[in-house]
Amino acid sequence: MTKIKIMDELLANKIAAGEVVEKCESVVKELVENSIDAGATEIKIELKESGIKEIKVTDNGFGMDREDAKMAFFRHATSKVLTEKDLFNISTLGFRGEALASIASVSKIELITSTGEVGTKIKLEGGKIIDISSSSSRKGTIIKINDLFFNTPARLKYVKNLYAELANITNLVNKIALSNPNIKISLFNNEKKLLQTDGSGDLLKVIMAVYGSEVASNMFEIEISDEDYEVSGFISKPEINRSSRNHMITIVNGRVVKNNEINKTINEAYHTYKPDNLFPIVILNIEVDSILIDVNIHPTKQDIKFSKMEELKLLIFKKIEEILGGKKFIPKVIKNDYVQETFDFSVNEKEEKIEKKEIELSNKDEENKEEKLPYLLAVASLFGTYIIAQNEVGMYLIDQHAAKERITYEFIKDDLGRPDTNTIELLIPITLEYTPSEFIVLKENFNLIKELGFSIEEFGINSIIVKSHPTWLPKNYEEKAIRRIFEIIIEKEKKFDIEKFNEKIAINLSCKLSIKANDNLSIEEMEHLINDLRKCKNPYNCPHGRPTIIVYEKEELEKMFKRSGF
Ligand code: ZN
Ligand code: ZN
Repeated sequence: MTKIKIMDELLANKIAAGEVVEKCESVVKELVENSIDAGATEIKIELKESGIKEIKVTDNGFGMDREDAKMAFFRHATSKVLTEKDLFNISTLGFRGEALASIASVSKIELITSTGEVGTKIKLEGGKIIDISSSSSRKGTIIKINDLFFNTPARLKYVKNLYAELANITNLVNKIALSNPNIKISLFNNEKKLLQTDGSGDLLKVIMAVYGSEVASNMFEIEISDEDYEVSGFISKPEINRSSRNHMITIVNGRVVKNNEINKTINEAYHTYKPDNLFPIVILNIEVDSILIDVNIHPTKQDIKFSKMEELKLLIFKKIEEILGGKKFIPKVIKNDYVQETFDFSVNEKEEKIEKKEIELSNKDEENKEEKLPYLLAVASLFGTYIIAQNEVGMYLIDQHAAKERITYEFIKDDLGRPDTNTIELLIPITLEYTPSEFIVLKENFNLIKELGFSIEEFGINSIIVKSHPTWLPKNYEEKAIRRIFEIIIEKEKKFDIEKFNEKIAINLSCKLSIKANDNLSIEEMEHLINDLRKCKNPYNCPHGRPTIIVYEKEELEKMFKRSGF
């Protein structure tokens, strides 16, 4: 009947003792993962003073009989990790045994557990069992950790960081909830509720519990697979973003992992839809045969390596790009606080607002699906910066600089996107001087430079003379561009990438060539600009990812003026 077995000694040695218990966060992680392993469908986490004073986890899992309960605090006792091979299988959550023993050694513990028959209560202090008695036979486990680090000098250090500690725990529990929508999870600190999910299995509902209804109603569902990977989840509209990368969450076979390459891929797919220093909220569930993944076996890390990484990246990139490219993103201006203050929605009514709402475009666009901007009538110019336009849906504000930037950017990119082998002879050749070491690198790359369409020669000591260059260099910026290309080649490890180079050039030039704020446009010029913007692949953002257009829906305006709806 003993579910917990002693772990193979060799294996145990691979797990560094003590590293499991670094902070309250790792204790919470360990306890909650134990609950998940015990098949719990309900887990309640209660903290006192961010967990320093008390961490209490109550679950409705299998529970333990008395023998298992006593064994649970022995070093290397585990019910899960049995062989070295299992350690690489990510479906095995966490590390048992080692962690509980470590936690016990630095705290006071009370464990109440039952398989549904006789209940057991065990008390420990500093790792020693001080009392065993019978208790309630409610199926499941309640574990209470008090005075964590009471016998270590680390305690003082943590007491000073209660706020950071709580933020970390909340972050962790949020991620656990997002990766387990089937489990009803709640988190409290000093009796204040910080999270409550309903265990219905609906990921979008968990997203709402974690991020609120505003975020939840602005998510796109993503679902894609190939023969190796199944990817599902939600990605936020570009206007929903955060300054931290932390909200791009990758879950592999039910477990939250860290993978910078996937984050990078997600971000690249959002390029120009949002500023590069802001990050989307993305929850990706990846299902994959565990043969294709390699997990770092260190218990405190969540690193993971995938075989067929390029395939996975491409799969994710293409799908996100497709979703973003196919949607209409005119951000709506909703004065949330104003509405709430004035009309006091009940919580339930607000939750119903989760249904996804896209801006309805005028009938004209029903016929012409290609166009992403509705028909708009320019009305006036505001502050010499914004165009005010209208249609039957509402009032639109267009940032004229951002709009022009987008138009110019797509135009230049299109142009630069078609490099040909044609070259332009320079009337006055350009001479470029380099340091000896730079020159050596350039000389090694003469063939690459020539392949790019430059005609170059050595000229004196450490100098290069450029006699002709390819036509795809941006007009009037030829010399600058040549210098930049050669610089990139000198920065060895990066191979010169025409596409990335063109992207930078296009963004840079589009800003320089675009009308600035305080340029007064005539109504005709405004309509011209709107029509050019309509032809863009992504008319909603400037190349830096800022919005070009926002809408005040007529309906919202009427609500604010109390003309309708109530
Ligand atoms: Zn600009
Ligand atoms: Zn811009």
